[in-house]
Amino acid sequence: MNQYDSQVARGLLEAEGYQVVSEDEENQTLKGADSQIAGNLGAPGVDVVLMNTCSVREHAEDRVYGRLGMLGKEKKSHPNLVIGLMGCMVEEHKEKLFKRFPQLDFMVGTRNIKEIPALIEEVWHYRKQVARIKQDGLSIEYTEFIKRTSPFHAWLPIMTGCDKVCTFCIVPITRGSEVSMPAREVYREASRLAGEGVKWITLLGQNVNSYHGETLSAGAPEHQSTRKLTGDGCAGAPVTFPKLLDMLCQIEGLEMISFTTSHPHDATEELFQVIAKNPKISRRFHLPLQSGSDRVLKRMKRLHTYQAYKAKIDRLRMLVPDIAITSDIITGFPGETERDHEATVNALKEIRFDGAYIYKYSVRPGTPAAKLGDDIPRSVKAIRLRELLNLQSQITEKIHRSWIGNSARVFIEELNPKNSLQLKGRLSQDKKVVFEGSPQWVGSFREIEITGLHHETFLGKEKRLETGLGGVGVDLTSPPQTAWKNR
Ligand code: SAH
Repeated sequence: MNQYDSQVARGLLEAEGYQVVSEDEENQTLKGADSQIAGNLGAPGVDVVLMNTCSVREHAEDRVYGRLGMLGKEKKSHPNLVIGLMGCMVEEHKEKLFKRFPQLDFMVGTRNIKEIPALIEEVWHYRKQVARIKQDGLSIEYTEFIKRTSPFHAWLPIMTGCDKVCTFCIVPITRGSEVSMPAREVYREASRLAGEGVKWITLLGQNVNSYHGETLSAGAPEHQSTRKLTGDGCAGAPVTFPKLLDMLCQIEGLEMISFTTSHPHDATEELFQVIAKNPKISRRFHLPLQSGSDRVLKRMKRLHTYQAYKAKIDRLRMLVPDIAITSDIITGFPGETERDHEATVNALKEIRFDGAYIYKYSVRPGTPAAKLGDDIPRSVKAIRLRELLNLQSQITEKIHRSWIGNSARVFIEELNPKNSLQLKGRLSQDKKVVFEGSPQWVGSFREIEITGLHHETFLGKEKRLETGLGGVGVDLTSPPQTAWKNR
């Protein structure tokens, strides 16, 4: 979501005549420590530094505080430097940050991104700290000004906020309650993107599979922001996430649709059926488990037991045998015993995720779990984290090795930035592949054979089929297929 918002901010600023340099671009030349990056960003010639922030974990916030400190020093020698913040930290801390960081000039909330150019003007004009933070509504801006990094892939936010009450999570505080973009708006934007040549879209939402883009049976209570967006507020059936996926699969030119992040509670049979019947839907399903212990899951208010979660995964794997399932795990949640931790270890062994993001628990102010204290010592969290990471990386590697020798359909995204003789692409399972081929294939799909593995990236070679005419050729007519070996 932050990447999407940054792309919108960049597009809007460029449309106003700004020259925008992203930190990634800086890193490519600097490859340096934070201080170098901030120092360089604050160097003469740079007028504005804008940071997009995340508050999901403490670590992400700490890094922003560190950089604000460095930029504050920089500002002493370049007093005209304008420093701005966007993203969830703005929603969380609001104007309080101005007091703590007098070097901060402006803050823009997740629902006010369009106002960034105007805010910068205001700072220049009045030289005072300004904030624009709208309290509720949809924090999505569909705009053709967006500056995507790829011509073929686009993020497409479809809902924001979350109505779940996971006790560790700050998202309901920062992003508010769930609001869905009306289905017709999503369809229109996806069609526009397809018209621009986008082949792969990733639908985004803090709780994406609880999307409910009702546009609205007559007389039904209408969400304020929905009314604004639909314009006419006319009647229509509620559109659930599976229905939306089905609709988007009809768009010509769009070849692959992925989505993130899903909650197990809203991972329904209907959704699994829609995935099974639509080869356009990515064969990666990211479904955070968080813990293998029912005791912890209950204290997290996750609304599922381990067995209920496992049953859903079993069902999905039965319906979609080539699905790659990934997950999120939190280790060291308050009160997590050695036995609870063992339950998570066993869950990883039993489910065998294709990959998992594993995090140490950090207290988020204002969340229900903040009242539980943070009683697991850092050193214990670190040991548990290491054990889970090691285990998961062994499982991931084993699964990836079992792919070697398989054929797979790959979407070619770009020339490999590390070796321009190679192409770089992604499988429907969202796994990376590099292989040799023609630069003209960028933006298209190709059948390849997986020949090896380098860390988590597959090595491949173009699959040539005997034509029967004495030559070799590439089969472009075969349906998407991924041979699958047992895990
Ligand atoms: N559904 C959300 C999840 C965002 S947070 C969304 O897509 O926006 C991503 C992951 O961060 C969560 O699944 C959880 O594993 C982890 N996380 C959230 N709060 C955390 C906390 N307080 N400490 C550690 N990890 C946390």
